[in-house]
Amino acid sequence: MPMLREPLLFVATSDIAGKVRGKAFPAARLGERAARGVGWTPTNVQITCFDAIAESPYGALGDLLLVPDPEARFEIDLGGRAPPRDFALGDILELDGTPWECCTRSILKSALARLERVAGVRLRAAFEHEFQLKGPARPRGDAYSMAGFEARRAFGEAVMGAIDAAGYQSDTFMREYGADQYEVTVAPEIGVRAADAAVVLRELVRAAALELGEDATFTPIRDPAGVGNGVHVHASFVDASGEPVTHDPGGPHGMSALTGAFVAGVLAHLESIVAFTAPSVISYARLTPHRWSAAFNNLGLRDREAAVRLCPVTERHAQSAARQYNFEYRAADAAASPYLALAAIVHAGAQGVEDGLPPPEVTAQDLSRLEPSALAARGLVRLPTSLAAALDRLEASPTARAWFPGRFCDIYVAHKRHEIALVEAMAESARYVAYEEVY
Ligand code: GLU
Ligand code: MG
Repeated sequence: MPMLREPLLFVATSDIAGKVRGKAFPAARLGERAARGVGWTPTNVQITCFDAIAESPYGALGDLLLVPDPEARFEIDLGGRAPPRDFALGDILELDGTPWECCTRSILKSALARLERVAGVRLRAAFEHEFQLKGPARPRGDAYSMAGFEARRAFGEAVMGAIDAAGYQSDTFMREYGADQYEVTVAPEIGVRAADAAVVLRELVRAAALELGEDATFTPIRDPAGVGNGVHVHASFVDASGEPVTHDPGGPHGMSALTGAFVAGVLAHLESIVAFTAPSVISYARLTPHRWSAAFNNLGLRDREAAVRLCPVTERHAQSAARQYNFEYRAADAAASPYLALAAIVHAGAQGVEDGLPPPEVTAQDLSRLEPSALAARGLVRLPTSLAAALDRLEASPTARAWFPGRFCDIYVAHKRHEIALVEAMAESARYVAYEEVY
């Protein structure tokens, strides 16, 4: 007799730990569940990436609703033996339907609404992900190579097919520089849909790897002597009619006044927002000079070591320069929830717009060679070199703290300090292994 199966839909949140957690219910009940959600527990937000629970102001008390967004329902069907993965991303609401203070997706929505309020624009964003396969290492000599690509063609094609099937537009797949490291890019999307795409991408890469007997990791860095796995967040703006407003051919390096002020805000607050965008203990081994990540709060023109990079445009593109023009935030990794990372970037940028900041200087040199005083004279700083230092900067910034609702910042800091304590109890070499296990 065939086994009876009830197709299930998983409703998910991407939380402070950057983990995708939730519950499943019969998919046929989506209509009803999209209204009343499933029950959720406040203290779940303090479950760290290593499962141990950080101190929680909620204790054992309280009830919330995790409510699936039918517009953010995805099915990952890799055509293998496993049933398709059916899931929806959702928001965590209070029982009265208002957003919960620690709902990362609601936090992003309110950051995007602020940007729309202060600048009259919507954000168009794309998350570029790097990750590695954990199996026995491929022979060295594969970096960017066709041989390295061909060895993983089936995997790359499964990933790109799944992106398109999920309703996003696959862009490029490549064999990166690190050991069995790959990069996937997806076309930009407007608003919260861009961050949803990043949540989906991570899940479908993991699913495609498993289907092919591999195991993918998005850990920020596997080996402190090697390169890291970055998440580069590309951003641009469109006005109410959908016209691009990021570029001004007469502005400095093509930046519109809006772009200049936004990027200046991001750089001014970078020291505190890295606590959200690079939120693991080992993230700070990646954010060091000469690793093509980011180590200073600088703007670079096509410079892969700048925290924010102005990306190239080409006349060979079917789209106008105005539409291609975008900048890339490089100080992020996949230990961060895409919602929180993007919310922090958007709030910092919106702050720059509100404060009317002038466009930042574009640097074009190796900043690690400059003394702190020479950096300071140009308004530049070395980014925090540990998660603990980044959390201290966040706590010391009343401006950054005020961007977030209720007790969120305190809860976030308590969560991350608990993670630091867990990691400090591990031997140095075990720390990298622990993170590659959980991300
Ligand atoms: N792996 C680098 C990082 O950690 C990025 C390399 C690149 O520019 O693609 O961000
Ligand atoms: Mg890359």
